[in-house]
Amino acid sequence: MKGLADIVLLGDERLYQKCIPLTPTDDVLIEQMIRDMHNTILEFRARYQAGRAIAAPQLGYMKRLIYMFVDGKSTVFINPEIIYRSEEMMELWDDCMSLPNLLVRLQRHQTIQIRFFDLHWQEHTWELTDGLSELLQHEYDHLDGILCTMRALDSQAFRWKPTPTDPLE
Ligand SMILES: [Zn+2]
Repeated sequence: MKGLADIVLLGDERLYQKCIPLTPTDDVLIEQMIRDMHNTILEFRARYQAGRAIAAPQLGYMKRLIYMFVDGKSTVFINPEIIYRSEEMMELWDDCMSLPNLLVRLQRHQTIQIRFFDLHWQEHTWELTDGLSELLQHEYDHLDGILCTMRALDSQAFRWKPTPTDPLE
C-alpha cells in the first residue's frame, strides 16, 4: 500500500501534468487509489498534524480523483468539475502535502460549486464556502497540473513551516 513515503514532491514533473478522467471500468484501480490515499492522509497527519485531502497525482496516479477525509468522514470526488466560482475572493496561507514545509500566500474564490461522481457513479453538485471551498480548489488544481506555488501573490508570498515532529536539535 502507498503512503507518506510515496508522496510526489515539489519539482516532480508529474505534478505539472493534466490528469485524465476515470471510467466505471476503472473500479479496481479506484479502490486501490482510495485505499492508498486514505492511508497517506493518516500517515501525513501523524507526522505533520495536518492534511484534509489529497489528489490522485500526488501519489503518481494521473487520474481525475480527489479524496477528502474531514471530521472522520470520507468523500471521493471522481471526475470533478468546478462549475461556479464566486467573484468574491479570500486570501490565505495555503499548504500542500507535496511541499510539506512550505506555506504559500494566495487568493481563492470564497464560494464554488463542484460537480462530481461518487463511487457508485451517481452525480452530485455541492456548493462549498470558506475552508472546504479553498481546499477543493487546491485539490482540483492538482488535477490540472497546477500547484499553489504557481498562484503565489508575489515573490515574498512564501513562509517556512517547521515540522512539528522534527527533533529539536
Ligand atoms: Zn496539494
